[in-house]
Amino acid sequence: MAQTYNPFENAQAQFDKVADMLQVDEGAKALLRQPMQELRFTIPVKMDDGTVKVFNAFRIKHNSARGPAKGGIRFHPHETVDTVRALSMWMTWKCAVVDIPLGGAKGGIICDPRTMSQGEQERLCRGYIRQLWSQVGPTLDVPAPDVMTNGQHMMWMLDEYETITGQRYPGMITGKPVGLGGSLGRTEATGFGVVYCLRECLKNMQLPIETTTASIQGFGNVAEYAARLYTQLGGKLIAVSCWNNTDKVAYTFRKLTGCDPEELAAIKDKFGSIDKEKAIALGYEVLEGDAWLSQDVDILIPAALENQITPAVLPKISQQVKVLCEAANGPTTPDADAQIRERGIMLIPDFLCNAGGVTCSYFEQVQCNMNYFWPKDEVLQKLEAAMTKAFQDVYDLAQEKQLYMRDAAYVISINRVVNAVKTRGWV
Ligand code: NAD
Repeated sequence: MAQTYNPFENAQAQFDKVADMLQVDEGAKALLRQPMQELRFTIPVKMDDGTVKVFNAFRIKHNSARGPAKGGIRFHPHETVDTVRALSMWMTWKCAVVDIPLGGAKGGIICDPRTMSQGEQERLCRGYIRQLWSQVGPTLDVPAPDVMTNGQHMMWMLDEYETITGQRYPGMITGKPVGLGGSLGRTEATGFGVVYCLRECLKNMQLPIETTTASIQGFGNVAEYAARLYTQLGGKLIAVSCWNNTDKVAYTFRKLTGCDPEELAAIKDKFGSIDKEKAIALGYEVLEGDAWLSQDVDILIPAALENQITPAVLPKISQQVKVLCEAANGPTTPDADAQIRERGIMLIPDFLCNAGGVTCSYFEQVQCNMNYFWPKDEVLQKLEAAMTKAFQDVYDLAQEKQLYMRDAAYVISINRVVNAVKTRGWV
């Protein structure tokens, strides 16, 4: 039987390892290895057919010592409280590693928006905020989109919040549409941030990006823009894997001469599923869902789900793979880390690799607070500078202390957060 992984236990194991290494004192360790606040609630929604459906929802705040908590809201039929806990903790480390003045939180609703009408989704979003409004806000906890949520969901949530509070608070939530308080560049930010890190990594490894090949899992928001920038910089993308909602199975789409992210984007739906028949017509081979892992490429980019790289799948990873670029949250299980390190695969750890999203969300908040919006080039320049510096800090520390890249990123983040909780006098 395949081993199951609990993402929260994974997040705690990663934290414990580095906290012990840094000899963090017991008080700070006890505080930081669990969330500060967990809200679990139900949302009754009147469905279009007249029935009432009750959805289970969460908002979990891991830590806010460095500033207001920040983190997305996921819609997923298999969402669990432990996934949300883990993601809230990773948000704390993520904001700290890029040195933005925010803490970590995450939210989730157990639901499948793919089977819900727009009206049902709107009532669900408004119901979420009716339960949560006193615990979120621009100076308290700032939600954002994540898996299967988008700018429209954020606007319904913002509108409900502003209706209840009677004021305009555009900085209450990020990921809003441009023109309604959203930042230019937010759509691209996470995927581009992944590739800014990858580009710096390859430079340090003296591997010209245009000589490299990559395979990617996912073709949602993160994966698509990572694929676009990687190929723009000259990299060759060999394979893309994504979920097919009709067949209820994942497929890998492969083109050995190079996948074209633009043509794939034109045949994907809004949930990041590529149309199989149209892909075949464009010359793509259709392989099994996990075939993206076993391609002879230099770079693997898991950009879909957690727990994809396990000891069980490691033997399938080609000896050619030199970089594991963790665009998704928690794609690698802790028991796979040791083998990745032994194999000499350079890891760009998730909370550094995908921090471009939250960095741009921070820029969105700053712009909302000033009510003055920057041009896209300015946003992307600031993003590039922040990601390049964050990557180089982690890489330099890893080289200097001979640390695994994940551990080096944790050292930087944990030191910053421990310093904040101590300086505030919490521990
Ligand atoms: P998304 O919903 O836009 O896309 C998810 C993609 O994963 C889709 O292409 C879907 O088909 C694919 N997928 C789902 N199940 C699959 C399977 N079994 N095999 C292969 N592909 C599968 O989500 P996203 O926003 O791109 O987020 C992807 C990951 O990045 C998540 O781990 C998320 O938490 C993380 N993340 C997202 C952001 C952001 O700004 N969107 C920021 C930081 C981290």
